[in-house]
Amino acid sequence: MDIQKLVKPNIRSLRAYHAEEIPCKVKLDANESPYSGGRDEGSGSRVKKILQTLNRYPDPEAKALKKILAGTLGVKSENILHGNGSDELIYYLITTFGGPVLYPTPTFSMYGIIAQALDEKKIEIPLDKKFDLDIDKMLAAIKKHKPKLIFLSSPNNPTGNYFSSERISRIIKFTLSHNPYPLSLVVVDEAYQPFTGKSKFLPLVGKYKNLVIMRTLSKIGLAGLRLGFLIANAEVINEVNKVRLPFNVNALSQAIATEALKNKNQICSNIASIISERETLFRAMKTIGGITPYPSDANFILFKVNDADRVYGGLLKKGVLVRNLNSVVKGCLRVTVGTPEENKVFLKMLKQVL
Ligand code: PMP
Repeated sequence: MDIQKLVKPNIRSLRAYHAEEIPCKVKLDANESPYSGGRDEGSGSRVKKILQTLNRYPDPEAKALKKILAGTLGVKSENILHGNGSDELIYYLITTFGGPVLYPTPTFSMYGIIAQALDEKKIEIPLDKKFDLDIDKMLAAIKKHKPKLIFLSSPNNPTGNYFSSERISRIIKFTLSHNPYPLSLVVVDEAYQPFTGKSKFLPLVGKYKNLVIMRTLSKIGLAGLRLGFLIANAEVINEVNKVRLPFNVNALSQAIATEALKNKNQICSNIASIISERETLFRAMKTIGGITPYPSDANFILFKVNDADRVYGGLLKKGVLVRNLNSVVKGCLRVTVGTPEENKVFLKMLKQVL
């Protein structure tokens, strides 16, 4: 019997997100932090306490976690929705509002994968030559296709740059001013916001009803916990909350994230180290002949080489794993900023391979 015949056509033609585990000495492929946000004296005993309560379901509303996050972000708990990573929240958003789903390309692949999984139409608009939003094409496509959801990853993965705030604002205002109700929700995915000082959008959630901000703890040292958040108008939050699975974030993740967020100094100092290392790494990469690194507002650097597949394979042979984006951004690889030692190994091996 052919199981394929049972599968919905949109799933049959879907390619699963590729999260292959490749053994390596220096892992710089997945935009994780090289520093663990969970390191903390005393957390051992607190974790032991949580283990004693694991016979109970977790708090379905994650109240303690949302309270501390609300304080950190300067918003109210009613404006926050918690997800098992922001991936899950993308799923919930598309489930709630449907498509078409519009996003620029290249960008984070999960917007397209989830839209297709849910059988929604995808509208992809290429970025301009500077990797910024092609505003005329975006507005024309919005007018034509009337997307229910627009995803803007800013800073953008994999290009690393922050989109023009003015262009993002134009998209928000354009879709909001549509009669009799907003044309689209605009989701500004700020997964990499901690690595740039340039976010202007969180304070605007109160002003624009169709603006949704997405954040994650994954890039600041807690990827293993799987925790992401939406920050939006309470009405949007309440609707998306209807499709959320009741216990989507487990008790250990809730408790450990709540503790980690209390220790903001450590998280902030790790972020500062990554930003400073990113600048050191970028300067060093600029001096290497035969490659073009692109400036980054995130915790990774996109760079162009003459033969991306060969350089990727060469680095891997030497134990350094980066992301090969040749099929997405021609000739490009992406390296995550690691510890100073890891970055030195990467630079040394890159020079050898070239
Ligand atoms: N958004 C962007 C732009 C990302 O790059 C990623 C992770 N690669 C995510 C969201 C997903 O983050 P999470 O780990 O919270 O699911």
